[in-house]
Amino acid sequence: MKAKRRLGQNFLVDSSYQERIIRAVNPRADETIIEIGPGHGALTEHLVDSGARVIAIELDHELILPLRAAFATRDHFSIIQADALEVDFAALIEPAATARVVANLPYYISTPIMQRLIEARTAITEMTVMLQREVVECITAAPGGKEYGFISVLVQYACEAESLFDVPPGAFRPAPKVWSSVLRLTRRAAPVAEVRDETMLIELAKVLFSQRRKTIFNNLRSGYTRLNLPDVEAIHAALSQAGLDPQRRAETLTLTEMAALTNALTQ
Ligand code: SAM
Repeated sequence: MKAKRRLGQNFLVDSSYQERIIRAVNPRADETIIEIGPGHGALTEHLVDSGARVIAIELDHELILPLRAAFATRDHFSIIQADALEVDFAALIEPAATARVVANLPYYISTPIMQRLIEARTAITEMTVMLQREVVECITAAPGGKEYGFISVLVQYACEAESLFDVPPGAFRPAPKVWSSVLRLTRRAAPVAEVRDETMLIELAKVLFSQRRKTIFNNLRSGYTRLNLPDVEAIHAALSQAGLDPQRRAETLTLTEMAALTNALTQ
C-alpha cells in the first residue's frame, strides 16, 4: 500500500526509535492510552503488549482492517475510524476518566491537533508525541526569541513541555525532509497564570503573533474586532491596565503578561 502524503504518512520503521518512545511512555496495565494515527501499528504493538487499554484513532480506512485483524485477539485494544480533530476524547475513554496520549502525529495538522488535545486536557493527563523538530523547538521556546510564538503560549500555559530526543529522517518510510523530535507534555495542576477566559487567551495570542515583527499595539489594532473590542481606546485601556508598553513585540511577553492582558480584555 502506497503511503499517503496528504495524510502525513511517514511510518516509523526503525525499531530502536520505536522502543525509545515506548520506554519514554512506560505504559502500564492499569491505564488507558489513546494512540492517534497508529498507521501500520509500529507503536501500537508495544502499547498493547504492556496490557494497557489502548484506543486507536485512525483516519485512513485502508489501514483500519489490517490493524483490526492484527489485534483481533487482544480484547483491551479498540480502534475507531475518525479524524482526531473531531473526536470527543472524554467520551471516547469512558468509563475511564483520564488517559495518556501517544502519537507519531501527522505533521500537516500539528497545531490544530495540539490545540484540540490541550482543550481536552481534563481527560488527558500526558501526551508523548512526535512532531517536526522545528515545531518542538517552538513549543518549548522561552519568551524573547524567534521560536517563541502562538503554539508556545498555547501549550506552555496548560502543560509542562519537555523535548526528549530527536529522530532522523532515515528512521521513517518514506523519509520526511525534516528531523523529528519526541515531546512530552504533562498537564499542569494549575495554569501558569489564571485567566478568566481561555478562549480569549488563545484568540489574543493568535492576534498578537499574526505579524510578529509588528508591535503588540499594531497587531491589536489590526485584530481588534476578533477580540470583540469596540475601538482603539479599548486597546489603550487594556494595555495600560496590564502594565504593558504598546511598542513591545509579542515574542517578549511572558505567559503572566499575556494572561494579564487577557484579563484586562475580559472584564
Ligand atoms: N504511528 C505510525 C508510525 O509511527 O509509524 C504512523 C504515523 S504517521 C506519521 C501518521 C498517521 O496518522 C498515519 O497513519 C495517518 O493515516 C494518520 N492520520 C492522518 N491524519 C489523521 C487524522 N486527522 N486523524 C487520525 N489519524 C490521522
